[in-house]
Amino acid sequence: MYVGVILSGKAVSIRSPNCAYCKVKPCSREPQAVKPDFCPMLTYSDIVSESINKYVGVVKDLHRTASTVEKEGYCVWPRLREVYEFSKMLNLRKLGVAFCIGLSDEAEFVVKYLESKGFEVYSVCCKCGGFDKTLVGLSEEQKLRPNTHESICNPVVQAELLNNVGTELNIVVGLCVGHDTIFITYSKAPVTYLIVKDRVTGHNPAAAIYVQNYFKSRL
Ligand code: SF4
Repeated sequence: MYVGVILSGKAVSIRSPNCAYCKVKPCSREPQAVKPDFCPMLTYSDIVSESINKYVGVVKDLHRTASTVEKEGYCVWPRLREVYEFSKMLNLRKLGVAFCIGLSDEAEFVVKYLESKGFEVYSVCCKCGGFDKTLVGLSEEQKLRPNTHESICNPVVQAELLNNVGTELNIVVGLCVGHDTIFITYSKAPVTYLIVKDRVTGHNPAAAIYVQNYFKSRL
């Protein structure tokens, strides 16, 4: 759906939903206040009002616990601690870690940290299976180092091995863009992120937004 609005004095057509263009965000504290015409609370009011009824069962537990973690550790707990507290509050026992081989040290730290907190932790490296990239249709030229064995990332097996041992929450540690998508698609357990891979920014993708002058030519 497109909605005509005035932005910076110009008449433009904006797709809805598109909250990123909203400068007022009354949904946060004053939901009855005036909203932009493209606000989904106006354009898709039926979907919005129905959504509150979807918080039942496991989703309700996850949702309420997330808010409890936010309240208790707000601006104090680093995300690693939040993942631990979230898992503890949900009374989980088995956790899975799906990690990139390039973050092996980080994965080992995370696994040992969570084990020290009493969890049963399983982890799977992205290269598990050791399948050469040519087996999924890539040519030698499409490898980083042509004519050598180069194992393709295998997010399906990462998910399926963790599914097989029955992890209750899976934690992503640095999977590539797209491989993470596949992992999330195949994971039976709910997934949360601990580290978002960004080889250029020390795994801090927001840096490219915060330091735009530096990254402009690369964006
Ligand atoms: S929901 Fe409506 S008020 Fe909230 S950010 Fe989106 S457009 Fe703005």
